[in-house]
Amino acid sequence: MKNADGRHFLLGKESDKFIGLPVPKSDYIIGTNSAKAVMKRLKLTYPVVLKLISQQAIHKSDVGGVKIVNNDSELEKAINDLQKTIKKIKDGKLLLQEFIKGHELIVGIKHDATFGPIIAFGIGGKYVEILKDIVFRACPIDPKEAEDMIEQLKFKAIIEGARGGIKANKKLLANALVNVSKLAVSKKITELDVNPLIVTEKNIYAVDVRLAFL
Ligand code: ADP
Ligand code: MG
Repeated sequence: MKNADGRHFLLGKESDKFIGLPVPKSDYIIGTNSAKAVMKRLKLTYPVVLKLISQQAIHKSDVGGVKIVNNDSELEKAINDLQKTIKKIKDGKLLLQEFIKGHELIVGIKHDATFGPIIAFGIGGKYVEILKDIVFRACPIDPKEAEDMIEQLKFKAIIEGARGGIKANKKLLANALVNVSKLAVSKKITELDVNPLIVTEKNIYAVDVRLAFL
C-alpha cells in the first residue's frame, strides 16, 4: 500500500533485513494476548514499546503511534488506543519492540544531483531540530572518515558519557556508519532514515528505520 504521495517506504520489520545493522527484538502483534506471547517468546520484560506501522503514518509520533508501556494495564490501554487509530486511518499494524536505553543518534542517506548519495549523521531522537548537530559526507566512507564524523559532533561530549551518562561505543558506531554508506552505493537506496540509531556501551540498534528504493 502506498501513502498519500504515492510512495512506498519499507517500515517496521520489513526494513530489518535491508538495513544490515542490529535491530531491537520485535514482532507484530494483534491484541493483548499475542503481545504477552511475543514478550514471552522474545524474553522481553517491561518496559516495551508499541508502534503503529503504516504508510499513512510515516511519522508515528505525530499520530500518537509510539507508546512505551511499563505494565499490563498500560499495555492493554496502548493497544486499544493504537487499534482506534488504525481504524481511523484505515491502515496499519502493531509492532511490539524491545526498549533500548542509550544515546539517540540519527543516520540518513539522501541523493544529491551533484554529489550522488550523501550520508548524514548526528544527534538524533527528539533533539534533532533543537541541537542541529549533523555532519555530512559523500558515500561511501571508510572507517577513518566515519571516526572523523563522530569527532566532529558539537555535542560529542554527550555520547562520550559526560556527567555520568552512557559511554557510546564509538567503534560500533563508526562501523555502522561505514556499512550504511556502503548500502547507499550498492543497494540503490534513494532515501534512508534511521532515527533513532541507539548506541550503548556494548551495542548499537537501528530502532526506527524508513527506507525507499530507486
Ligand atoms: P517516529 O519517528 O515515527 O515518531 P520512533 O520509532 O522513532 O517513531 O519513536 C519515537 C521516539 O520514541 C524515538 O525517537 C525514541 O525516543 C522513542 N523510542 C522509540 N522506540 C524505542 C525503543 N525501542 N527503545 C527506546 N526508545 C524508543
Ligand atoms: Mg523516528
